[in-house]
Amino acid sequence: MNIMKMVHKQINNVSNYVKINDNVLQIISKPKQLISLNFPVKLKNGNIEILSGFRVQHNNILGPYKGGIRFHPDISLHESEALASWMTFKCALQTLPLGGGKGGLAIDPNNYDMEDLENISRAFSRKLYNYIGSNKDIPAPDLGTNAQIMDWMCDEYNKTGVKRHDLGVFTGKSLNYGGSAGRNEATGRGVALSVLEWSKINNINLNNKTFILQGVGNVGYHTAKILSSYGMTMLGIGDHTGYLRNMNGIDIDDILTHIDDNKSLKYYNEKLSINKDEFFSTKCDVIIPAALELQILEKEANNIDCKLIVEAANGPINIEADNIFKSKNIDVIPDILANSGGVLVSYFEWLQNKTNEYLDEDDINLKLEKKMSITFNDVFNISKQYNCTLREASYIKSLQKLENTYLSRGFI
Ligand code: NAD
Repeated sequence: MNIMKMVHKQINNVSNYVKINDNVLQIISKPKQLISLNFPVKLKNGNIEILSGFRVQHNNILGPYKGGIRFHPDISLHESEALASWMTFKCALQTLPLGGGKGGLAIDPNNYDMEDLENISRAFSRKLYNYIGSNKDIPAPDLGTNAQIMDWMCDEYNKTGVKRHDLGVFTGKSLNYGGSAGRNEATGRGVALSVLEWSKINNINLNNKTFILQGVGNVGYHTAKILSSYGMTMLGIGDHTGYLRNMNGIDIDDILTHIDDNKSLKYYNEKLSINKDEFFSTKCDVIIPAALELQILEKEANNIDCKLIVEAANGPINIEADNIFKSKNIDVIPDILANSGGVLVSYFEWLQNKTNEYLDEDDINLKLEKKMSITFNDVFNISKQYNCTLREASYIKSLQKLENTYLSRGFI
Protein backbone atom coordinates (compact mmCIF):
# COMPACT_ATOMS: atom_id res chain seq x y z
CA MET A 1 0.00 0.00 0.00
CA ASN A 2 1.07 3.54 -0.71
CA ILE A 3 2.22 4.71 2.73
CA MET A 4 0.91 8.28 2.26
CA LYS A 5 -2.58 6.80 1.67
CA MET A 6 -2.24 5.30 5.12
CA VAL A 7 -1.39 8.73 6.58
CA HIS A 8 -4.37 10.33 4.78
CA LYS A 9 -6.70 7.59 6.05
CA GLN A 10 -5.49 8.19 9.62
CA ILE A 11 -6.18 11.93 9.24
CA ASN A 12 -9.58 11.41 7.58
CA ASN A 13 -10.78 8.94 10.25
CA VAL A 14 -10.94 11.88 12.66
CA SER A 15 -13.93 13.29 10.76
CA ASN A 16 -15.98 10.29 11.98
CA TYR A 17 -15.86 11.89 15.43
CA VAL A 18 -15.11 15.64 15.23
CA LYS A 19 -15.16 18.34 12.55
CA ILE A 20 -11.73 19.75 11.66
CA ASN A 21 -11.54 22.89 9.49
CA ASP A 22 -11.29 21.86 5.79
CA ASN A 23 -8.45 24.31 5.10
CA VAL A 24 -6.41 22.82 7.93
CA LEU A 25 -7.04 19.33 6.57
CA GLN A 26 -5.84 20.45 3.14
CA ILE A 27 -2.71 22.12 4.51
CA ILE A 28 -1.62 19.11 6.58
CA SER A 29 -2.29 16.63 3.78
CA LYS A 30 0.83 17.86 1.92
CA PRO A 31 4.42 18.62 3.01
CA LYS A 32 5.69 22.20 2.68
CA GLN A 33 9.05 21.24 1.17
CA LEU A 34 10.55 18.11 -0.40
CA ILE A 35 14.34 18.24 -0.63
CA SER A 36 16.22 15.71 -2.75
CA LEU A 37 20.03 15.81 -2.87
CA ASN A 38 22.45 13.70 -4.94
CA PHE A 39 26.13 14.24 -4.17
CA PRO A 40 29.49 12.47 -4.57
CA VAL A 41 31.62 11.25 -1.68
CA LYS A 42 35.18 9.99 -2.05
CA LEU A 43 35.76 6.82 -0.01
CA LYS A 44 39.01 5.74 1.66
CA ASN A 45 39.75 3.27 -1.17
CA GLY A 46 39.66 6.12 -3.69
CA ASN A 47 36.26 5.18 -5.16
CA ILE A 48 33.63 7.88 -5.65
CA GLU A 49 30.06 7.01 -4.66
CA ILE A 50 27.06 9.13 -5.63
CA LEU A 51 24.74 9.20 -2.63
CA SER A 52 21.05 10.13 -2.51
CA GLY A 53 19.79 12.06 0.49
CA PHE A 54 16.35 13.39 1.37
CA ARG A 55 14.72 15.82 3.77
CA VAL A 56 10.99 16.42 3.94
CA GLN A 57 9.75 19.46 5.85
CA HIS A 58 6.10 18.70 6.42
CA ASN A 59 4.71 21.45 8.65
CA ASN A 60 6.09 24.21 10.92
CA ILE A 61 3.01 26.01 12.25
CA LEU A 62 3.99 25.00 15.82
CA GLY A 63 7.74 25.59 15.54
CA PRO A 64 10.90 24.50 13.66
CA TYR A 65 10.67 21.26 11.70
CA LYS A 66 11.83 18.33 13.87
CA GLY A 67 12.55 14.72 12.99
CA GLY A 68 15.08 11.97 12.50
CA ILE A 69 17.70 11.19 9.91
CA ARG A 70 17.77 7.59 8.68
CA PHE A 71 20.64 5.74 7.08
CA HIS A 72 18.82 2.90 5.30
CA PRO A 73 18.97 1.63 1.69
CA ASP A 74 15.17 1.92 1.26
CA ILE A 75 14.74 5.54 2.42
CA SER A 76 13.00 7.60 -0.27
CA LEU A 77 11.27 10.94 -0.64
CA HIS A 78 7.93 9.17 -0.48
CA GLU A 79 8.73 7.30 2.74
CA SER A 80 10.19 10.49 4.28
CA GLU A 81 6.93 12.30 3.45
CA ALA A 82 4.92 9.86 5.59
CA LEU A 83 7.50 9.88 8.40
CA ALA A 84 7.64 13.71 8.40
CA SER A 85 3.83 13.91 8.59
CA TRP A 86 3.80 11.61 11.61
CA MET A 87 6.37 13.91 13.28
CA THR A 88 4.00 16.89 12.85
CA PHE A 89 1.18 14.92 14.49
CA LYS A 90 3.49 13.57 17.24
CA CYS A 91 4.77 17.03 18.23
CA ALA A 92 1.23 18.47 18.17
CA LEU A 93 -0.04 15.56 20.28
CA GLN A 94 2.62 16.30 22.91
CA THR A 95 1.97 20.08 22.55
CA LEU A 96 5.63 20.73 21.71
CA PRO A 97 6.63 24.00 19.98
CA LEU A 98 7.98 21.94 17.06
CA GLY A 99 6.86 20.92 13.59
CA GLY A 100 7.46 17.77 11.55
CA GLY A 101 10.39 16.77 9.36
CA LYS A 102 12.24 13.59 8.39
CA GLY A 103 14.83 12.34 5.95
CA GLY A 104 17.90 10.31 5.45
CA LEU A 105 20.52 8.82 3.21
CA ALA A 106 19.92 5.77 1.03
CA ILE A 107 22.89 3.74 2.32
CA ASP A 108 23.44 0.66 4.48
CA PRO A 109 25.71 2.01 7.27
CA ASN A 110 26.99 -1.54 7.92
CA ASN A 111 28.79 -1.43 4.56
CA TYR A 112 31.19 1.35 5.67
CA ASP A 113 33.93 1.60 8.29
CA MET A 114 34.02 4.51 10.77
CA GLU A 115 36.26 6.70 8.61
CA ASP A 116 34.01 6.45 5.54
CA LEU A 117 30.87 6.82 7.66
CA GLU A 118 32.28 10.02 9.16
CA ASN A 119 33.08 11.43 5.69
CA ILE A 120 29.62 10.51 4.43
CA SER A 121 27.86 12.05 7.47
CA ARG A 122 29.87 15.26 7.16
CA ALA A 123 29.19 15.52 3.41
CA PHE A 124 25.44 15.08 4.03
CA SER A 125 25.54 17.78 6.73
CA ARG A 126 27.18 20.22 4.29
CA LYS A 127 24.44 19.49 1.74
CA LEU A 128 21.73 20.09 4.36
CA TYR A 129 23.40 23.30 5.61
CA ASN A 130 21.01 25.75 3.95
CA TYR A 131 17.89 23.88 5.00
CA ILE A 132 18.51 23.24 8.73
CA GLY A 133 19.21 25.23 11.92
CA SER A 134 18.05 25.25 15.55
CA ASN A 135 15.19 27.62 14.66
CA LYS A 136 14.54 26.12 11.23
CA ASP A 137 14.82 22.32 11.08
CA ILE A 138 16.37 20.11 13.77
CA PRO A 139 17.35 16.55 12.81
CA ALA A 140 17.94 13.68 15.30
CA PRO A 141 18.96 10.00 15.20
CA ASP A 142 16.66 7.38 13.71
CA LEU A 143 17.05 3.97 12.06
CA GLY A 144 20.75 3.35 11.29
CA THR A 145 22.04 6.58 12.90
CA ASN A 146 23.25 7.37 16.44
CA ALA A 147 24.83 10.00 18.72
CA GLN A 148 28.23 9.73 17.01
CA ILE A 149 26.67 10.51 13.60
CA MET A 150 24.78 13.48 15.12
CA ASP A 151 28.08 14.77 16.63
CA TRP A 152 29.84 14.62 13.25
CA MET A 153 26.94 16.29 11.46
CA CYS A 154 26.56 19.00 14.12
CA ASP A 155 30.31 19.74 14.10
CA GLU A 156 30.33 19.95 10.29
CA TYR A 157 27.29 22.25 10.24
CA ASN A 158 29.01 24.58 12.70
CA LYS A 159 32.23 24.66 10.61
CA THR A 160 30.53 25.27 7.27
CA GLY A 161 30.18 28.77 5.81
CA VAL A 162 30.18 31.50 8.44
CA LYS A 163 31.30 29.84 11.69
CA ARG A 164 28.28 29.27 13.92
CA HIS A 165 27.75 28.20 17.53
CA ASP A 166 24.47 26.41 17.06
CA LEU A 167 24.48 23.26 19.20
CA GLY A 168 20.70 22.92 19.03
CA VAL A 169 20.67 22.25 15.26
CA PHE A 170 20.90 18.49 15.98
CA THR A 171 19.54 16.58 18.97
CA GLY A 172 20.47 13.08 20.13
CA LYS A 173 24.12 14.17 20.37
CA SER A 174 26.60 12.60 22.81
CA LEU A 175 26.82 13.88 26.40
CA ASN A 176 30.27 15.32 25.58
CA TYR A 177 28.83 17.52 22.87
CA GLY A 178 25.64 19.02 24.31
CA GLY A 179 23.53 15.86 24.39
CA SER A 180 20.89 15.37 27.08
CA ALA A 181 21.07 12.86 29.90
CA GLY A 182 18.49 10.15 29.17
CA ARG A 183 18.14 10.88 25.40
CA ASN A 184 19.66 7.56 24.30
CA GLU A 185 17.07 5.55 26.28
CA ALA A 186 14.23 8.07 25.88
CA THR A 187 12.25 6.49 23.03
CA GLY A 188 12.36 3.02 24.61
CA ARG A 189 11.55 4.50 28.02
CA GLY A 190 8.51 6.26 26.52
CA VAL A 191 7.35 2.99 24.91
CA ALA A 192 7.67 1.16 28.25
CA LEU A 193 5.85 4.01 30.06
CA SER A 194 2.99 3.65 27.56
CA VAL A 195 2.68 -0.02 28.53
CA LEU A 196 2.72 0.99 32.21
CA GLU A 197 0.01 3.65 31.77
CA TRP A 198 -2.14 1.16 29.80
CA SER A 199 -1.72 -1.44 32.58
CA LYS A 200 -2.76 1.07 35.27
CA ILE A 201 -5.90 2.08 33.38
CA ASN A 202 -6.83 -1.56 32.79
CA ASN A 203 -5.90 -2.63 36.32
CA ILE A 204 -3.35 -5.17 35.07
CA ASN A 205 -0.27 -6.23 37.06
CA LEU A 206 2.65 -6.41 34.59
CA ASN A 207 4.67 -8.80 36.74
CA ASN A 208 5.03 -12.13 34.87
CA LYS A 209 3.25 -10.80 31.79
CA THR A 210 4.89 -11.69 28.48
CA PHE A 211 5.97 -9.83 25.34
CA ILE A 212 7.66 -10.30 21.97
CA LEU A 213 9.91 -7.71 20.31
CA GLN A 214 10.70 -7.06 16.63
CA GLY A 215 13.82 -4.86 16.20
CA VAL A 216 16.70 -4.80 18.71
CA GLY A 217 18.19 -1.40 17.99
CA ASN A 218 18.16 1.72 20.12
CA VAL A 219 14.38 1.70 20.66
CA GLY A 220 13.85 -2.06 20.94
CA TYR A 221 16.71 -2.74 23.34
CA HIS A 222 15.79 -0.04 25.87
CA THR A 223 12.09 -0.95 25.69
CA ALA A 224 12.87 -4.61 26.45
CA LYS A 225 15.27 -3.69 29.25
CA ILE A 226 12.69 -1.49 31.02
CA LEU A 227 9.80 -3.93 30.48
CA SER A 228 12.01 -6.65 32.04
CA SER A 229 12.52 -4.35 35.05
CA TYR A 230 8.70 -4.33 35.45
CA GLY A 231 8.88 -8.15 35.83
CA MET A 232 7.80 -8.93 32.26
CA THR A 233 9.25 -11.90 30.32
CA MET A 234 10.38 -11.68 26.70
CA LEU A 235 9.31 -14.82 24.78
CA GLY A 236 10.42 -13.86 21.26
CA ILE A 237 12.76 -11.47 19.50
CA GLY A 238 13.62 -10.68 15.89
CA ASP A 239 15.79 -8.49 13.69
CA HIS A 240 16.66 -8.17 9.98
CA THR A 241 18.46 -11.56 10.11
CA GLY A 242 15.70 -13.68 11.70
CA TYR A 243 13.54 -14.54 14.70
CA LEU A 244 13.98 -16.54 17.95
CA ARG A 245 11.50 -17.90 20.48
CA ASN A 246 11.90 -19.40 23.95
CA MET A 247 8.70 -19.84 25.96
CA ASN A 248 10.86 -19.89 29.14
CA GLY A 249 12.11 -16.38 28.39
CA ILE A 250 15.01 -14.68 26.59
CA ASP A 251 17.46 -12.44 28.45
CA ILE A 252 17.81 -9.04 26.73
CA ASP A 253 21.36 -8.45 28.03
CA ASP A 254 22.56 -11.83 26.66
CA ILE A 255 21.11 -10.73 23.32
CA LEU A 256 22.88 -7.36 23.50
CA THR A 257 26.23 -9.00 24.23
CA HIS A 258 25.71 -11.28 21.21
CA ILE A 259 24.75 -8.32 18.97
CA ASP A 260 27.77 -6.30 20.14
CA ASP A 261 30.03 -9.17 19.04
CA ASN A 262 28.15 -10.27 15.88
CA LYS A 263 26.25 -7.13 14.70
CA SER A 264 22.93 -9.09 14.61
CA LEU A 265 20.89 -11.90 16.21
CA LYS A 266 22.29 -14.42 13.71
CA TYR A 267 23.91 -17.53 15.30
CA TYR A 268 22.60 -16.63 18.79
CA ASN A 269 21.01 -20.08 19.23
CA GLU A 270 19.93 -22.02 16.12
CA LYS A 271 17.61 -24.24 18.21
CA LEU A 272 15.42 -21.23 19.05
CA SER A 273 15.09 -20.13 15.43
CA ILE A 274 11.56 -19.57 14.02
CA ASN A 275 10.15 -17.73 10.98
CA LYS A 276 8.31 -14.40 10.92
CA ASP A 277 4.86 -16.07 10.76
CA GLU A 278 5.62 -18.18 13.82
CA PHE A 279 7.02 -15.14 15.62
CA PHE A 280 3.86 -13.05 15.20
CA SER A 281 1.68 -16.10 16.10
CA THR A 282 3.31 -16.37 19.55
CA LYS A 283 0.62 -16.14 22.24
CA CYS A 284 1.69 -13.37 24.61
CA ASP A 285 0.36 -10.28 26.39
CA VAL A 286 2.15 -7.49 24.50
CA ILE A 287 3.71 -7.18 21.03
CA ILE A 288 6.32 -4.48 20.38
CA PRO A 289 7.17 -3.81 16.72
CA ALA A 290 10.35 -1.66 16.95
CA ALA A 291 11.88 -2.01 13.47
CA LEU A 292 10.26 -0.59 10.33
CA GLU A 293 7.01 0.46 8.69
CA LEU A 294 4.44 -2.05 7.38
CA GLN A 295 5.57 -5.11 9.31
CA ILE A 296 2.12 -6.23 10.53
CA LEU A 297 -0.30 -6.75 7.62
CA GLU A 298 -3.56 -8.76 7.35
CA LYS A 299 -1.79 -12.14 7.49
CA GLU A 300 0.07 -11.32 10.71
CA ALA A 301 -2.99 -9.57 12.20
CA ASN A 302 -5.18 -12.65 11.70
CA ASN A 303 -2.65 -14.82 13.55
CA ILE A 304 -1.86 -12.41 16.38
CA ASP A 305 -3.10 -13.45 19.83
CA CYS A 306 -2.27 -10.77 22.43
CA LYS A 307 -3.91 -8.01 24.48
CA LEU A 308 -1.86 -5.01 23.41
CA ILE A 309 0.35 -3.87 20.53
CA VAL A 310 2.63 -0.88 21.08
CA GLU A 311 3.95 0.83 17.95
CA ALA A 312 7.54 1.58 18.96
CA ALA A 313 8.41 1.85 15.24
CA ASN A 314 6.70 4.38 12.99
CA GLY A 315 3.86 2.96 10.92
CA PRO A 316 4.40 -0.78 11.56
CA ILE A 317 0.68 -1.69 11.18
CA ASN A 318 -1.24 -1.17 7.92
CA ILE A 319 -4.87 0.02 7.77
CA GLU A 320 -6.36 -3.43 7.17
CA ALA A 321 -4.47 -4.97 10.09
CA ASP A 322 -5.51 -2.04 12.29
CA ASN A 323 -9.17 -2.76 11.48
CA ILE A 324 -8.66 -6.44 12.37
CA PHE A 325 -7.30 -5.44 15.79
CA LYS A 326 -10.33 -3.20 16.32
CA SER A 327 -12.68 -6.13 15.62
CA LYS A 328 -10.59 -8.47 17.81
CA ASN A 329 -10.61 -5.93 20.68
CA ILE A 330 -6.82 -5.79 20.76
CA ASP A 331 -5.62 -2.37 21.96
CA VAL A 332 -3.03 -0.56 19.83
CA ILE A 333 -0.99 2.32 21.29
CA PRO A 334 -0.16 4.28 18.11
CA ASP A 335 3.34 5.39 17.07
CA ILE A 336 2.64 9.11 17.47
CA LEU A 337 1.99 8.48 21.17
CA ALA A 338 4.07 5.38 21.97
CA ASN A 339 7.41 6.50 20.53
CA SER A 340 7.07 10.22 21.36
CA GLY A 341 9.52 9.89 24.29
CA GLY A 342 12.35 10.40 21.80
CA VAL A 343 11.16 13.78 20.54
CA LEU A 344 10.21 14.85 24.07
CA VAL A 345 13.77 14.40 25.34
CA SER A 346 15.11 15.88 22.08
CA TYR A 347 13.05 18.94 22.96
CA PHE A 348 14.59 18.96 26.48
CA GLU A 349 18.05 18.73 24.83
CA TRP A 350 17.25 21.65 22.51
CA LEU A 351 16.15 23.74 25.53
CA GLN A 352 19.29 22.80 27.49
CA ASN A 353 21.44 23.83 24.49
CA LYS A 354 19.66 27.23 24.39
CA THR A 355 20.02 27.93 28.13
CA ASN A 356 23.24 26.00 28.85
CA GLU A 357 21.55 24.68 32.00
CA TYR A 358 21.85 20.90 32.00
CA LEU A 359 19.58 18.56 33.97
CA ASP A 360 20.60 15.21 35.45
CA GLU A 361 19.11 11.91 34.28
CA ASP A 362 16.61 11.60 37.16
CA ASP A 363 15.17 15.05 36.39
CA ILE A 364 14.90 14.27 32.67
CA ASN A 365 13.24 10.90 33.34
CA LEU A 366 10.79 12.54 35.73
CA LYS A 367 9.84 15.18 33.13
CA LEU A 368 9.43 12.44 30.52
CA GLU A 369 7.26 10.29 32.81
CA LYS A 370 5.03 13.25 33.69
CA LYS A 371 4.46 14.27 30.07
CA MET A 372 3.88 10.69 28.84
CA SER A 373 1.39 10.08 31.65
CA ILE A 374 -0.59 13.30 31.05
CA THR A 375 -0.80 12.76 27.28
CA PHE A 376 -1.63 9.06 27.62
CA ASN A 377 -4.49 9.82 30.00
CA ASP A 378 -5.80 12.66 27.78
CA VAL A 379 -5.84 10.25 24.82
CA PHE A 380 -7.50 7.52 26.87
CA ASN A 381 -10.25 9.94 28.02
CA ILE A 382 -10.88 11.07 24.42
CA SER A 383 -11.15 7.43 23.35
CA LYS A 384 -13.82 6.87 26.04
CA GLN A 385 -15.65 10.11 25.14
CA TYR A 386 -15.96 9.19 21.45
CA ASN A 387 -15.84 5.39 21.82
CA CYS A 388 -12.91 5.26 19.43
CA THR A 389 -9.46 3.64 19.30
CA LEU A 390 -6.36 5.11 20.95
CA ARG A 391 -5.05 5.94 17.45
CA GLU A 392 -8.21 7.85 16.54
CA ALA A 393 -8.16 9.63 19.91
CA SER A 394 -4.48 10.60 19.43
CA TYR A 395 -5.30 12.09 16.01
CA ILE A 396 -8.31 13.98 17.43
CA LYS A 397 -6.10 15.62 20.10
CA SER A 398 -3.27 16.30 17.65
CA LEU A 399 -5.39 17.74 14.80
CA GLN A 400 -7.37 19.92 17.22
CA LYS A 401 -4.10 21.40 18.50
CA LEU A 402 -3.00 22.18 14.91
CA GLU A 403 -6.44 23.59 14.03
CA ASN A 404 -6.53 25.85 17.11
CA THR A 405 -3.07 27.19 16.29
CA TYR A 406 -4.00 27.96 12.66
CA LEU A 407 -7.21 29.68 13.82
CA SER A 408 -5.50 31.72 16.54
CA ARG A 409 -2.70 32.85 14.25
CA GLY A 410 -5.29 33.92 11.67
CA PHE A 411 -3.87 31.84 8.83
CA ILE A 412 -7.32 30.50 7.89
P1 NAD B 1 18.09 1.00 14.92
O1 NAD B 1 18.76 1.15 13.61
O2 NAD B 1 18.83 1.28 16.16
O3 NAD B 1 17.49 -0.52 15.03
C1 NAD B 1 16.64 -1.07 14.07
C2 NAD B 1 16.37 -2.54 14.39
O4 NAD B 1 15.39 -3.02 13.45
C3 NAD B 1 17.60 -3.43 14.25
O5 NAD B 1 17.57 -4.43 15.26
C4 NAD B 1 17.38 -4.08 12.88
O6 NAD B 1 18.01 -5.35 12.76
C5 NAD B 1 15.87 -4.22 12.86
N1 NAD B 1 15.36 -4.39 11.51
C6 NAD B 1 15.68 -3.67 10.41
N2 NAD B 1 15.03 -4.16 9.32
C7 NAD B 1 14.29 -5.20 9.77
C8 NAD B 1 13.40 -6.11 9.13
N3 NAD B 1 13.17 -6.05 7.82
N4 NAD B 1 12.79 -7.06 9.89
C9 NAD B 1 13.02 -7.13 11.23
N5 NAD B 1 13.86 -6.30 11.88
C10 NAD B 1 14.48 -5.35 11.17
O7 NAD B 1 16.77 1.89 14.82
P2 NAD B 1 15.93 2.57 16.00
O8 NAD B 1 16.48 3.93 16.21
O9 NAD B 1 15.80 1.62 17.14
O10 NAD B 1 14.51 2.79 15.28
C11 NAD B 1 13.55 1.74 15.20
C12 NAD B 1 12.19 2.32 14.85
O11 NAD B 1 11.81 3.28 15.87
C13 NAD B 1 12.10 3.08 13.52
O12 NAD B 1 10.80 2.90 12.98
C14 NAD B 1 12.27 4.53 13.93
O13 NAD B 1 11.70 5.43 13.00
C15 NAD B 1 11.49 4.53 15.24
N6 NAD B 1 11.83 5.62 16.15
C16 NAD B 1 13.13 5.80 16.56
C17 NAD B 1 13.41 6.84 17.45
C18 NAD B 1 14.80 7.03 18.02
O14 NAD B 1 14.94 7.86 18.93
N7 NAD B 1 15.83 6.30 17.57
C19 NAD B 1 12.40 7.72 17.86
C20 NAD B 1 11.09 7.50 17.41
C21 NAD B 1 10.83 6.45 16.57
